[in-house]
Amino acid sequence: MVFQNSVASSQTLVRRVGVIGGGQLAWMMAEAAEKLGLELWVQTPSHTDPAVAIATQTILAPVDDAIATAQLAEQCDVITFENEFVDLPALTHLAQQGTCFRPSLDALRPLLDKYDQRTLMESLGLPTPSFTIQELLPYADSFPPSFPVVLKTRRHGYDGQGTFIVRTPAELNETLAQLASVPVLLEKFVPFERELAVMAARSLNGEIAIYPIVETQQENQVCRRVIAPAKINPEITTEIETIVRTLLTHLQVIGIFGIEFFLTKDGTVLINEIAPRTHNSGHYTLDACATSQFEQQLRAICGLPLGNAAMTTAGAVMVNLLGYEQSVSDYAAKRQALAAIPHAHVHWYGKMESRPGRKLGHVTVLLDEAATLQDQANDSVARSAIAHQIESIWYPY
Ligand code: ADP
Repeated sequence: MVFQNSVASSQTLVRRVGVIGGGQLAWMMAEAAEKLGLELWVQTPSHTDPAVAIATQTILAPVDDAIATAQLAEQCDVITFENEFVDLPALTHLAQQGTCFRPSLDALRPLLDKYDQRTLMESLGLPTPSFTIQELLPYADSFPPSFPVVLKTRRHGYDGQGTFIVRTPAELNETLAQLASVPVLLEKFVPFERELAVMAARSLNGEIAIYPIVETQQENQVCRRVIAPAKINPEITTEIETIVRTLLTHLQVIGIFGIEFFLTKDGTVLINEIAPRTHNSGHYTLDACATSQFEQQLRAICGLPLGNAAMTTAGAVMVNLLGYEQSVSDYAAKRQALAAIPHAHVHWYGKMESRPGRKLGHVTVLLDEAATLQDQANDSVARSAIAHQIESIWYPY
């Protein structure tokens, strides 16, 4: 039994993993957990959250309820995160009493607030857009250098919620007024040519596995598509991998992180955001890599050697299935039509309700198996055609 031998060799027998958060990221851990002989116990607020269906046990509580996390910790060998909107000071008491968090709370601490993230990157000499905070705005002579400028709520932002691209001083004041006392970060608008992302894991003994760099395509600040691998030159790959190693090593990460970048026309790479967990840009790994991001997270936090992060196919296109209406539907006919696309893998998160913008599922199409695309597997036109085919089935417009 590979699992037991490997765990024994790292002196940490992990059988039961507690997961803070029960959305689709926790739901997608199920297959890997079964493969590795692990139980998943989940802390999540609603019985309709996706991971309730796969959890051995669920503690129904908000993710920032540290009393619930204490109950989870009593039952589990290690606690990990699918959602970082936690109450860190309260969890710190649990860590002091011996709860094993992976990644550690020290690794999470500088990442939960977007201003702290940018400050960390700056202190490590890693490239990041120029930034300030509202309180310092009167003193930041050179900020904003020009409009547009990007205003972000410092905490709890996701899927573009809390990110505002403002184009005039009046719009800036209006947005600040609307946000009232919510702490905000202001940063330079980056006229990027493309957005890139990468998943990377670090094990208990410091081994690092970096997945292929992907291109992500956002609309209205929400991820719509991921193209794997990104077509970038080797110097950019090396630069991004160096950034990732610096970051994971500095934070002594045990687990998996998703890191997003801007790539400008002149080849400048800037870090946009660091997610201290599995990430939407890594969903393609479920079908297109030797080890999925979810298995890799479990392997890292259980003290196992990391798996192979290489792709098993020439390329992949992942498209998010975002809600486009308020409705209660399982969209069975659409899912069947999507599944009929050659070499498509449909993942449906089992959410009961659709709302505009809500992530209901995703589809990954593997490129090298697609007979119709054999001659043009690396062709961006072919990749766009696949994304278009999926979106024209899914969206009614
Ligand atoms: P979230 O935490 O909601 O994912 P992000 O900070 O990643 O928010 O921003 C979401 C998207 O908004 C990015 O993927 C990018 O398309 C756009 N964006 C964010 N910051 C900037 C910026 N400084 N310049 C230009 N576009 C940006």
